[in-house]
Amino acid sequence: MKKKLSLKELNLAQKKALIRVDFNVPLNCSQIRDDTRIKASLPTIEYVLSQGGAAILMSHLGRPKGGYLEEFSLDPCAKRLAELLHRPVQMAPSCRGAEVEKMAAELKPGQILMLENLRFHLGEQEPSKDPSFASSLACLGDLYINDTFSSTHRRHASITQITQFFFGCSAMGLLIEKELSYLTPLLNHPKRPFYAILGGAKISTKIKIIKALIEQADVLLIGGAMAYTFLKAQGKEIGSSLVEKDCLPFACQLIKQAKESNCSLILPLDHVITNSSYSVKEAYTVTTEEGILQGFQGVDIGRATIEKYEEKLQQAQTVFWNGPLGVFEKQPFDYGTNALAKVLAALKAVTVIGGGDSVAAVECLGKSMDFTYLSTGGGAVLELIEHKQLPGIQALSDSPSFLS
Ligand code: AMP
Repeated sequence: MKKKLSLKELNLAQKKALIRVDFNVPLNCSQIRDDTRIKASLPTIEYVLSQGGAAILMSHLGRPKGGYLEEFSLDPCAKRLAELLHRPVQMAPSCRGAEVEKMAAELKPGQILMLENLRFHLGEQEPSKDPSFASSLACLGDLYINDTFSSTHRRHASITQITQFFFGCSAMGLLIEKELSYLTPLLNHPKRPFYAILGGAKISTKIKIIKALIEQADVLLIGGAMAYTFLKAQGKEIGSSLVEKDCLPFACQLIKQAKESNCSLILPLDHVITNSSYSVKEAYTVTTEEGILQGFQGVDIGRATIEKYEEKLQQAQTVFWNGPLGVFEKQPFDYGTNALAKVLAALKAVTVIGGGDSVAAVECLGKSMDFTYLSTGGGAVLELIEHKQLPGIQALSDSPSFLS
């Protein structure tokens, strides 16, 4: 990947920096349940202000389908940001239009303007439906900073289209730089042995990443529902566990690819199973060899699997983990996922947790968990591992230090 322009290479004095942040926070009746994403954007915003710039922030929130909906307003985020920065944050009524342009034009150094949800306009997610959307955002700022790693795999107007209007002055924010500083070594030259752990619901959404990890990792541990498609492909009895029949041929190919690539593919040895209503009273542990009875489904890895994973992981120098190993939202089926988190936290290896549900699971265990890095990007991390680049980063200006 080419070295991209960094925020610290920009002259920010007297400039209006248009910053794409990720304020897609979980909300409950307009109350922010977790402000981690807002906090993650503070270093970039504070840096811009400290250099004499003004910050115009843009983000999406939730999945409105191209029209104003109060429940998806970014107003609560603007208020929380103001509390965190101890500075006023102006809230714009929209992200485009004459009134917003006036607010942006009047912004002074040190001031902050929060634009309203980008997804209130169809042009954000589908730029071809409104080609002028990116330019109407771009006209608000003098330079552009992308500080939303979690959305950088998306070809949305505020991520990729917009950079064409900021020739030589579209830069990575500090959050993206931090993400890349942990993820790039993992991709290019991980300390070996490199262990990857994949869980989650579906193989279909992760086939390409499984292929990429088989090529890159020395050992691949697979848990979660996706293990059952592999076990079925091996002819094991998996009862009513989640299986993707269409993916059985892929699972066979992946098992073959792992053998050819000298990647050791390890599937669960035992399973916590229960009936279709996830009854805790009807939960048992069975081994893979015993098989899972019809009417029962695997909902977590069993203790023998955890012990095996723990023993194997002691040899790892680098570990990458994405996806829960069971139905972690429902106790006690979170046991395997939590146990793995504790095993990883105790390792001396470089441990990188790749966003989404695995980070949510780890964060539930408390701040004392010690990992090398918890990524803010779920899909973005997976796409980075698969393609070794991300559209939103490719779209940014090259660094002069790269060009010279
Ligand atoms: P993903 O988005 O692919 O990472 O999948 C996360 C989801 O996988 C979570 O909602 C888990 O509850 C689910 N999951 C993990 N293991 C299982 C399992 N054995 N059976 C059903 N769902 C599972």
